Amino acid sequence: MALKYGAPRPTIHIETSMAHQRGTGNRTVGSGTARHSGLPDNTHPEGLCPRCRKQSSFDSSGPIPVTFGDGVVADKDGSYSHVVEARASVLGCRNCGQGVVVVEQLEQDTSPLIRGGKPLIWRGIHWWPMTGAVVHHAVPEAIRFALQEAEATFAANCFRAATIMARHALEAIAADQGAEKGKLVDRVKALADCHKLQPNLADWATEVRLVGNAGAHGPLDNVSEDDAKDLLAFMQELVNYLYVLPFELQERRKNKP
Ligand SMILES: [Zn+2]
Repeated sequence: MALKYGAPRPTIHIETSMAHQRGTGNRTVGSGTARHSGLPDNTHPEGLCPRCRKQSSFDSSGPIPVTFGDGVVADKDGSYSHVVEARASVLGCRNCGQGVVVVEQLEQDTSPLIRGGKPLIWRGIHWWPMTGAVVHHAVPEAIRFALQEAEATFAANCFRAATIMARHALEAIAADQGAEKGKLVDRVKALADCHKLQPNLADWATEVRLVGNAGAHGPLDNVSEDDAKDLLAFMQELVNYLYVLPFELQERRKNKP
């Protein structure tokens, strides 16, 4: 019987609310110690919500088979049904109330067909929206779109393209903050000098500029997955500092009696 099995469940370690889940496999983002249980699926309906970016629990719509293999399974009544290779469902976040689509496959080496009666374990392999692909609406449109495209291309393992789009987002941020002329490095430095950028973020931005240049104008074989991942993690922190936190502070003040 031709059965195929999905990739193991990604395990994610994060230290900020805006860290990313990247591609498949085990990932470690940043250097912090806080850890969450990864993205949700029907086996473990809790974890990071890609919409509200909070640790949450989820209610499932119930899985629907979407892909069938060549094999068949004999049912008790003597009938046969096709082996399901992948299934999809919508998980409703109990925090934000939004839905997250998850596609699941059987976890490797857990099928009763080869292991003698162990329970089937389904694990999520794809999620929509992708983590990081939802950029806060407080972020200006030009920056938001560039950042979302950077996230999408990263998720497709296009690291150079992700780097180029993230650099565009950084250029748009500099322009939005009033640093419209000169080399990007000088514009970022100007933002730090006039206290629009927190000093640590400004230092970090210098590293980002180098990665951005490698993607946009330098040798195209010089951008690694880690380079792009670090760049996108920085960009998320930057927009959080410049746009999201001030917006949320303003909203809190508005709602005060
Ligand atoms: Zn949510």
